[in-house]
Amino acid sequence: MDLGIAGKWALVCAASKGLGKGCAAALVREGVNVVITARGEAALQATAAELRALNPAVQVLAVAGDITTPAGRAAALAACPQVDILVNNAGGPPPGDFRDWDREAWIKAIDANMLTPIELIKAVADGMAERGFGRIVNITSGAVKAPIDILGLSNGARSGLTGFVAGLARQAKLASRNVTINNLLPGAYDTDRLKATLSGAAAKTGQPLEAVAEARRQQSPARRFGSAEEFGAYCAFLCSVHAGFVVGQNLLTDGGAYPGTF
Ligand code: NAP
Repeated sequence: MDLGIAGKWALVCAASKGLGKGCAAALVREGVNVVITARGEAALQATAAELRALNPAVQVLAVAGDITTPAGRAAALAACPQVDILVNNAGGPPPGDFRDWDREAWIKAIDANMLTPIELIKAVADGMAERGFGRIVNITSGAVKAPIDILGLSNGARSGLTGFVAGLARQAKLASRNVTINNLLPGAYDTDRLKATLSGAAAKTGQPLEAVAEARRQQSPARRFGSAEEFGAYCAFLCSVHAGFVVGQNLLTDGGAYPGTF
């Protein structure tokens, strides 16, 4: 299927590794020019080189910076000639117990996983509407549907984003102008973030890492972790011309781990 987005420009945040990188790679394969961001310059430049090799016909620009800061966002936006596609992503908050989280911990989580995507949407949505095309995908988490007890900061901050987006995506001045906003909710994907979470659990329980990883795989009917490539392909479809009627949805992709009918 031709996704119909070759030649468009995408800003893919937090994309030197993991799910963001998977999304950038899938878009680049479709002929989309991308601006990718991450804080660490070395990994970011290495990823940019990989993406250029995937499709030499597209432009790949790398902007090092913290997307959760005003300066990081301004630099990313300034580098993108026109944002047709926005993939919102940032690191997830640390696990822990709510008794240990002070106001600063909450503000940090809300900044990264709620206010940063909202600021970026604010910067690009009206321009998309004027041009009659826009695709915004927020990478959130399966924790929005089924909270994970130790990830309370994530459960809370991402639910705030989800509630806000549910209203915004349905504004006729966006949806009627072919601007869609949707959330992708990953379950367990094989990325550095997952490895860090599993290592933490192994250290806490004294179990071998592989035993913890296998137990986690068994939690989904697919009996495996997802790959960043398949996540990216789903994201690219949502960014395609064919997905213009998908508006304000929370799309879970977790190998069937969530046990509900809806
Ligand atoms: P990952 O493999 O650790 O990759 C995170 C990427 O984001 C890296 O490129 C990292 O580069 C960049 N990044 C982190 N903080 C940033 C910041 N403040 N500004 C700019 N770039 C930043 O993580 P992932 O597994 O892809 O996870 C992506 C998101 O999905 C996270 O919010 C995570 O909580 C969520 N999620 C993941 C899973 C899963 O199973 N993997 C499940 C549910 C939800 P630098 O560190 O160099 O900045």
